Amino acid sequence: MSHADARTDTAAAPALPAATVLGYPRIGPRRELKTALERYWSGASDLAELEQAAAEVRTRTRTRLVELGLRRDDASVPSAFSFYDPVLDVVTLLGAVPSRFADLPAADGSVGLAESFVLARGDEARGPLEMTKWFDTNYHYLVPELGPRTPIALVGDRPVRELLEARADGVQARPVLVGPVTFLLLAKAEDGAPDGFHPLDRLEDVLDAYAALLPRLAEAGAGWVQLDEPGLVVDGAVPAEDVLAATRRAYERLTAVTDRPALLVTTPYGDPGAALPVLLGTGVEGIGLDLVRGDASRAADALGDHVRAGHRAPAVLAGVVNGRNVWRTDLDAALATLGELSSVTGASVSVGTSTTLAHVPHDVDVETALDARVRSWLAFADQKVTEVHTLATALANGPESVKDRLEAARAARRDREEAPGVRDPRVRERCAALGEADLARPPYAERRPLQDQALPLPPLPTTTIGSFPQTPEVRRARAALRRGALDQAGYEAAMREHVAEVVAVQERLDVDVLVHGEPERNDMVQYFAELLDGFAVTDHGWVQSYGSRCTRPSILWGDVSRPAPMTVPWATYASSLTDRPVKGMLTGPVTILAWSFVRDDQPLADTARQVALALREETVDLEAAGVVVIQVDEPALRELLPLRAGARPDYLRWSVDAFRLATAGVQPSTQIHTHLCYSEFGEVLGAIDALDADVTSIEAARSRMEILPEVEDAGFDRGLGPGVYDIHSPRVPGTDEVVDLLRLALKHVPADRLWVNPDCGLKTRRPEEVGPALANMVTAARALRS
Ligand code: GLN
Ligand code: ZN
Repeated sequence: MSHADARTDTAAAPALPAATVLGYPRIGPRRELKTALERYWSGASDLAELEQAAAEVRTRTRTRLVELGLRRDDASVPSAFSFYDPVLDVVTLLGAVPSRFADLPAADGSVGLAESFVLARGDEARGPLEMTKWFDTNYHYLVPELGPRTPIALVGDRPVRELLEARADGVQARPVLVGPVTFLLLAKAEDGAPDGFHPLDRLEDVLDAYAALLPRLAEAGAGWVQLDEPGLVVDGAVPAEDVLAATRRAYERLTAVTDRPALLVTTPYGDPGAALPVLLGTGVEGIGLDLVRGDASRAADALGDHVRAGHRAPAVLAGVVNGRNVWRTDLDAALATLGELSSVTGASVSVGTSTTLAHVPHDVDVETALDARVRSWLAFADQKVTEVHTLATALANGPESVKDRLEAARAARRDREEAPGVRDPRVRERCAALGEADLARPPYAERRPLQDQALPLPPLPTTTIGSFPQTPEVRRARAALRRGALDQAGYEAAMREHVAEVVAVQERLDVDVLVHGEPERNDMVQYFAELLDGFAVTDHGWVQSYGSRCTRPSILWGDVSRPAPMTVPWATYASSLTDRPVKGMLTGPVTILAWSFVRDDQPLADTARQVALALREETVDLEAAGVVVIQVDEPALRELLPLRAGARPDYLRWSVDAFRLATAGVQPSTQIHTHLCYSEFGEVLGAIDALDADVTSIEAARSRMEILPEVEDAGFDRGLGPGVYDIHSPRVPGTDEVVDLLRLALKHVPADRLWVNPDCGLKTRRPEEVGPALANMVTAARALRS
């Protein structure tokens, strides 16, 4: 009997595969998808070529996963590809486009691939769907916009086609989709939706569409379908009772569908808490738990209760291999967790990853330039698949059957514990000696007059956030340095030339507080990682950030210290070119952690303190070199906010302490700036205030200063620079527009504390846009001064 025939018998759900992963990097080991997408967008290729390239990435993924030990015949291999973003995929699957895109769907409501890119990227006529961070990761998804009348129906068939494609390749894949509840929790109400409307109001429509899809997947041979519901691990704006009610309704409805695949519902990124018993009550056949973030004992209790109440236990996919970091798994600890789950419940337990592997690079074996000892401690996506397979083998055949592998994992962990640099006594002593006094500056009321004296500025002073356009010459010089065609001295000379231009431009534009433009920084975190001890960088460790954009996070493996000044020569060089103040420019401790892969063998707070201490040395050196304004960027402060409310106060305490440690070593006359972007500051406003920076710049232009009433209410009483120039768009704001925004700002911020600046750095903009935009910004500030 073929697999497809077995499908119609829903009473006997197929067993969950013994070993699987929730998802795999989508971009390709050589970023093949990125190349193909960008070629298509630039007009250099057509849709057929793009489809072909994507099909090759998918085939390669399946082949690789099977090579690494996943079975090809039992739904072990996830079918989790996406051209751009899995949330966008649900939007197109359901034809759920906001009204400003009503022209995109075809007559039958379906949205083509080319049209889906218009949703993702916008066009001349309209802005794209908003993009925001996916849970507490650095991945960005597209935010669905739903109203009471947004079309929602099953209009797409990509999951079916990709399943058939896998089958034709001889692989019984498992389709993966964002689940209906999470889709709605991530959506926002479309502009113009009536007050009180919430996307969850559309639950029944979304369920109808998912219910229509399931039999089609079964018909195409799916034994299982995976529905990801990370929305269930967050304390968000929707009251918990409503989330639980929606969850119950959703899975009662979907389990009632006849002729469907078995349902594997996963709750990655955290602990499902009260949602787990609710899911169990609906009778879904499989539950995927994140046992890295989530609590295994609590899950075991919930499963035990369910069984004791006389119900059949679902199959459990135990996510014991971390999908979010790059460290080899402690296989002994993972086996203990697996044992706990199997013994308490008597349920069948399979081995999986905590989340998709899309958050880690493909393969550590290609990192030949990485220190061999550090490399031996690491596991990227491919190594993690092998770990899953090893654990599943141990579970099935006993640990003896994989004893060499278990021993190798133990040896690597031991080696990591003992390796020089992992624990540096000098760093530890210095951290231990820190006290409250190291975190505090004199009150702002005392600092302000000293700063006004040291740094005479007009009212409404103008500045920028740090980076200037990374011109082709800058990129070319960096590439030449990498290739060896340019030596370090030649590279630095090219960068100095760029700094001189940037300084001259700002003087010409009459900006008050200058920046050096950051040309020497490939990336605001990696630049520091390369100069600090305790970090390693990879050559190929790309991770998707959004769409075709990837970042290459550094690896923080040991105690962090600063062997030498990192930014002082650039700052002093820039200062030497002008009589105006030039800001020293640093990335803050939380952002450095958020955008790196961080060691997992000590609390994040301890690691943050070490990074902060290194930055503190840098601020002190900058000050000694005559720099009177120092900016420490913390754009990721909001990103690391824990998903559960209970964990937030502790996080906010240590993250604020780290910033203060980094910045409180300077004289009261030195002005500390900070910068935050990526909106949604609401929840962290108290913490932003507690950073105690003299000046805080925040993104505010696109939302037209929406945040300022809240900032005012939070009692913020130091300098504030709400952005007046949306740098995410090539548009040049007019002088009147900037004046309007500043007038709005003045309603909430007194004139003697208001700064005038763009939303963020200008790195991604072109000089032709930046010149006129800054000119208008300066003119607007001048107009308001008089
Ligand atoms: N100083 C950085 C820049 O201007 C800040 C970037 C950011 O906030 N993401 O590029
Ligand atoms: Zn920014």
